[in-house]
Amino acid sequence: MCKHDPRRDGSRAEPSPLPGAQPPQARIPFRPLTEPGAATGSGLLQRLRARIACKGPLTIADYMQACLADPSGGYWQKPTSIGAAGDFITAPEISQIFGELIGLWCVLAWQGLGRPACVRFVELGPGRATLMRDALRAARTMPAFLAAASVHLIEASAPLRAMQQRVLISSSPTAAEHGATACTGALPAITWHAEIADVPPGPAIVVANEFLDALPIRQLVFSGHDWRERVVAADAGGALLFAPGAPADAGHLAKQAPLPGTICELRPGEEALFAALARRGAPLVALCLDYGPAEEAFGDTLQGVAAHSYCDPLAAPGATDLTAHVQFAALRRKACAAGFAADGPIPQAEFLGRLGIAERAARLMAANPQRAAEIEAGVARLMSPTGMGGLIKALAVRSAHLPPLPAFG
Ligand code: SAH
Repeated sequence: MCKHDPRRDGSRAEPSPLPGAQPPQARIPFRPLTEPGAATGSGLLQRLRARIACKGPLTIADYMQACLADPSGGYWQKPTSIGAAGDFITAPEISQIFGELIGLWCVLAWQGLGRPACVRFVELGPGRATLMRDALRAARTMPAFLAAASVHLIEASAPLRAMQQRVLISSSPTAAEHGATACTGALPAITWHAEIADVPPGPAIVVANEFLDALPIRQLVFSGHDWRERVVAADAGGALLFAPGAPADAGHLAKQAPLPGTICELRPGEEALFAALARRGAPLVALCLDYGPAEEAFGDTLQGVAAHSYCDPLAAPGATDLTAHVQFAALRRKACAAGFAADGPIPQAEFLGRLGIAERAARLMAANPQRAAEIEAGVARLMSPTGMGGLIKALAVRSAHLPPLPAFG
């Protein structure tokens, strides 16, 4: 069910700009912190300053990692990151149809895998578990899939993991902790893991919606002569600022000589993900949905989002969401380098359109006339060519021997 007015909440692909702030392609200048406690800085800010003073500036990847994953002050410790009361909204929170269509896609992918009797249904970064809940509900039309599937959730955030347990197994007497398995009559067994490498062997279907954008990026900045690692330093007053660091290997971009100040972004976690998936050595399909360009692009896309608006990514470390666009050309290249075949990327609107979003919405509206306007508004937002429908892309990855995946062929 759509819990929020989808017209009011900002997604990470399309948050509202703060008054006076610029969209993330043009960085907003550093401004002093104004949040409570800003005079001395938050605990995490203090520790980052101390780390910089002791060991030198941080790479953007180290800064992102600390801001998101620090065990005491990192953003993913915040219980209310996603939703109207939080910082941003995602597609499954806008319309139940999104998760339902993903569930249908997974059933079709399972059939394409040859209907294995045991399949690992994996979600990376399940957030509030809305997608998985809706996908499992839709998959009830194929009981053989549900009988074959075990659900594996890869989640870094303790508060979100607790919420996922409430949503997915609230009726179960067994509270599933890290690594433990819980099962209800209606659902397949559900297990939580810290890493994809912990998922047991066997054929797998992997779904990642707005997960990759949260993996830390490195930024390289072109000096006019060479590429430099972009770093986060501190000025004499302790204010964080961006600066060029040591010379860095720009890989296949090294031969390009763009304008001085041009930034390119690298996301090593993507190679690590595909390597981990390839190590499984079993038939596999994966579906990645995220915002970012289909073609290779330069530019600074590091963005802070708080309360549905853009904010300075340096302004309040650990207190705001921090992401960067996914470069789909690079993602596809990395999947193929790991031995997989890839389909897409295609815009989200095309993907959902081919899966029958219009027909599903018409049926849902007919069955729930009192919710028709809300359902229609949610679908319009998911499909908007200038919003989520166009900014978000879908890329499917498969073991090379498998046929092209549904909605991509
Ligand atoms: N897929 C959800 C949530 C997207 S937000 C949705 O569409 O609504 C990103 C999610 O990824 C959150 O659940 C966050 O806690 C999780 N996450 C981010 N980095 C992670 C990592 N390195 N390992 C596991 N989970 C991570």
